Order: sequence, then C-alpha cells, then structure tokens
Amino acid sequence: MLLSLIVPCYNEQEALPLFYRETTKVLSEMQCDYELLLVNDGSRDNTLSIMKDLAAKDPHVLYFSFSRNFGKEAAMYAGFSNARGDYVAVMDADLQDPPSLLPEMVKILESGEYDSVATRRIDRAGEPPVRSWFARRFYELINRISDADIVDGARDFRLMTRAMTDAVLSMSEYNRFSKGIFGWVGFKTYWMPYENVERVAGVTKWSFWKLFKYAIDGIINFSQAPLSIASWFGMIMTGVSFLFLIFIVVRRLIWGDPVAGWASTICVIIFIGGLQLFCLGIIGQYLAKTYMEVKNRPHFIISDTNAGHAVKIR
Ligand code: UDP
Ligand code: MG
Repeated sequence: MLLSLIVPCYNEQEALPLFYRETTKVLSEMQCDYELLLVNDGSRDNTLSIMKDLAAKDPHVLYFSFSRNFGKEAAMYAGFSNARGDYVAVMDADLQDPPSLLPEMVKILESGEYDSVATRRIDRAGEPPVRSWFARRFYELINRISDADIVDGARDFRLMTRAMTDAVLSMSEYNRFSKGIFGWVGFKTYWMPYENVERVAGVTKWSFWKLFKYAIDGIINFSQAPLSIASWFGMIMTGVSFLFLIFIVVRRLIWGDPVAGWASTICVIIFIGGLQLFCLGIIGQYLAKTYMEVKNRPHFIISDTNAGHAVKIR
C-alpha cells in the first residue's frame, strides 16, 4: 500500500523543516510505503531550496515547483494529478493538520467501510472573532443554497482512496473550491474531529479579504441561487408597481391630481437603477467564471521537479 501526502507550500521556509521532521517521524512508525509530494506554489523565500535539500537526502520526497503563485487550489490539483498512492492526503505545511492523526485515518480506510476520512476542527481557537462569525454565516448559507454538502470547520486535510481521488481529478474545472468538490463527489466519509492547532511558524497566507473572495467564489461555483435573485426582485417590483398604479388612478379620480412628487420619482428611479446594476453584477460574476472555464487554461505550470515518472506538468 502506497500513501501519498500532498503538501502545498507558499513561503513556508520556517514551517517546512518542522513539518518534514514531524511527519516522517509518524510515517516511519507506520508500516507502509509513502511519498511526500511537496508543491512549491511560487514562493519568494527559500522554500524551494529547502525542498531540494530534502529531496536530495530522502528518496520519498518529490517536489514540484510552479512557475509563479497559482494558489492553494492549484497546488492541491497538481498534487492529485501526480500522486500515485492508493491512499492520498492533502496536508498544510504549517502542522495545523496534525500528522499524528494519520495512522488512525489509514486504519479507518483499511477497514474498508469508508472511502475517505476527513478532519473537522471542533473549535476556532486563535482565530479573530469577526472571521469566525463570517465563516459560520458562510457555511449556513452555502449549505442552504447548494447541493455540495460542506461541514462547518472542515479542513482540506483528508485521506482518500484511489477511487475518490480519481473522482476529484475528473472534476477538472478551472475555478476550484475543494471543500465543495469533496462534498459533491459523494462517497462515504468518516468525520474525525480534533482540536484546533495553531500554525508552528511563519504567518497565515490568507487575509480576511482573500478569504471573503474565496467564500464568494465557493458560492458562485456551487450554487445558481444568486442568479435567481434578479427574477425575484423583478417579480416583486412588478407586483408593487401594479398596486401603486391602482393607487394613483384611484387618487386621480377622487381628489384630482396637482403636479407634485418630483422627489419620490427620483427615488424610485435610483432605487430601480441600483437593483438592475446589482443583478447585472451577479450575472457578470457567473459570466466571468464561464469565460475562464471556456478559455481552458492550464491550472498550473510546473517549471522544476525531481519526479522522474510521467509528470503532469499543467
Ligand atoms: N498556500 C499555498 N498557496 C497560497 C496560499 C497558501 O500553497 O497561495 C498553502 C500554505 O503554504 C499552507 C496552506 O496552503 O501550507 C494553508 O495556508 P495557511 O496556513 O496560510 O492558511 P490558514 O491555515 O491560515 O487558513
Ligand atoms: Mg495554516
């Protein structure tokens, strides 16, 4: 049985050596063959030279270096494309995904009852409260309006069988949102809770704004609900304007109609104009996604690797 661990790394020079030490310690105690796929996502520090050093002294290590920063989703996809394992896992380089969970995860898959073991943190310790609040609302919303079932607190850290890995690979969309993809492909998943661990070294690569945009992407990628907002607004406005029409006609017949109401007219025009732009914006978001998909660009470009086997480089 071969175990593949995919590790996306972006500016992880402090954390990567610690990650390597901890993880190999756990792996060497397990009775299985393994490969470590380190993906350098266009780091601007010494991450790549650390990877090369590790690869030089450890044949388990394969590194794949991107020509620029393509994002964590692309790094994971590159890992999936090149992993040869029977079991495949994604892990962060900052030890927030504890390698000590691996032996138990493997055992659960080996029992044959599940196709994947996913991890879920039971608390959000060490996270700013505003971020936690927005994260919770995001999970509530996306579960209501999409059929990708996404668990609050789910991490990207999960161990999958070959069958599930192939299913994930077959979803070759350009706009990737892994949490949704893992849920969408189905399969039987065992959820393993654990207490949140803070990053060992280095800093988080996600600003609040980057996370916010990622959340919007997730919604657009897995739900068509926002598109119907325009139709709903349209129907409501039509109903309201019809009632208003009746009101005006009746008023004209009973009291006559002195010319007035300039302010209210402007308000109505601006309000409807705003609504129209808002709905156009939503349609634009979907159109932009479609545009990127249609272009069919590579998800990533590998400029340097030590993997000798047929490498998928884009
Ligand atoms: N990462 C990446 N490319 C990016 C951003 C992040 O490969 O553009 C990697 C990063 O090196 C780490 C993982 O994704 O291994 C998770 O990132 P981070 O720990 O910064 O996120 P957080 O845990 O704070 O959500
Ligand atoms: Mg982290």
